[in-house]
Amino acid sequence: MTHLVIVGGGLAAGSAAETLRAEGFDGDVTIVAAEQHPPYQRPPLSKGYLAGKEGADAVILHPAEWYADNGIGLRTGTVATALDPAAHRLELAGGESLGYDAVLLATGASPRRLPISGADLPGVHTLRRIEDSDALHAELKDGGRRLVMIGSGWIGLEVAATAREFGNEVTVLERDPVPLAAALGAELGNVFARMHREHGVDLRLSVGVEAIAGDGRATVVVVDGETVPADLVLVGVGAVPNIELAEAAGLDIQNGILVDASLRTSAPDVFAAGDVANAYHPVIQRHLRSEHWANALNAGPVAARAMLGQHVVFDDIPYFYTDQYDLGMELSGYAPLMSQAQLVIRGDLEGREFIAFWVDGGRVVGGMNVNVWDVNETVQALIRSGEPVDAGALADPSVSLESL
Ligand code: FAD
Repeated sequence: MTHLVIVGGGLAAGSAAETLRAEGFDGDVTIVAAEQHPPYQRPPLSKGYLAGKEGADAVILHPAEWYADNGIGLRTGTVATALDPAAHRLELAGGESLGYDAVLLATGASPRRLPISGADLPGVHTLRRIEDSDALHAELKDGGRRLVMIGSGWIGLEVAATAREFGNEVTVLERDPVPLAAALGAELGNVFARMHREHGVDLRLSVGVEAIAGDGRATVVVVDGETVPADLVLVGVGAVPNIELAEAAGLDIQNGILVDASLRTSAPDVFAAGDVANAYHPVIQRHLRSEHWANALNAGPVAARAMLGQHVVFDDIPYFYTDQYDLGMELSGYAPLMSQAQLVIRGDLEGREFIAFWVDGGRVVGGMNVNVWDVNETVQALIRSGEPVDAGALADPSVSLESL
């Protein structure tokens, strides 16, 4: 009997397992997941779940019974410790060894650690797992606490918004002069800076965090020689792909596990998808590693089909969304092309109701709709078409986007 194995307990792992059965595969499927939960998705952990508005059912993809009902062996709390591609074997902590016909590495990413003293003190949090969100919720839910955030990336800003809504004091310490500058550029990053300041966040930009210090009762963050008192600290300075298993197995690694457009690694019958995979994108003809929900959701099924021997290609346009206060946003586009593109705004930037387009060589390579809905498909169609567009028409709300 054919045995397909999936390593990981996130959205890429869960969506791949679902697809194997949906495609009619009736052989053995095993998921090896380090965490204690069935595969789950993480966006609610910094939004509705953190705010206490959504329960675990909004997070978990399927309850454990679903895997049993579908004949999927779900091994939670189990770490895969070694992969032997030549022997087609996967070693598990505890000494067990699984043979496989094909294996998917969906090992995700982990919070980047801050190389400063005090980063491991009690009261210093990161946010990746359900338990991290539970711990933050317990600290923030009654308000009146002083949260100091190090880093102003997406997750950090979402937590800042939730923490303010609970009535906590929030200080955000950011090394760059503008939050989200790497993702959005200065003009759009400033939209988020203004919004957080309007909501009472003490946003301190261009600062250098030197250390975190504490004696068990009081914690301070040392910033440019000054101390900022904190009841809790959240470090949100990005994530690093979990490549250890693949690297030790000799797979090609470069900013994640290198895979082709069918999500095949450099080793036979070994695939990778989700945050850990740096996949060749056939449209822009370069590798892309996307740490986004939609990437895990849609690449998992493509990897599953490739494991079944189907000829498939993953060519989605990267897509991301965020919710902060009353701002909802969707962002589609090819980040490597967006960084040098011209920004075209349609709508009201100050009023936070607009669509931003990134235009490179006359073509749309990215688009972000902020508090404007039901346009994401059109934005993606513009990007996919690769046709030249007139920037004036793009900026003009009286010209329908469909006509461009
Ligand atoms: P992961 O979800 O990281 O899952 C990987 C799993 O593999 C983990 O459970 C890990 O423990 C397990 N694992 C690792 N190594 C092993 C091993 N050796 N053996 C067994 N198991 C192993 N994206 C958006 O687009 N929009 C959002 O609003 C958004 N919000 C987010 C909020 C938070 C708080 C976080 C953390 C992420 C957010 N993201 C968001 C990103 C999105 O959640 C990730 O892109 C997605 O989780 C990636 O899924 P994945 O399956 O690749 O990896």
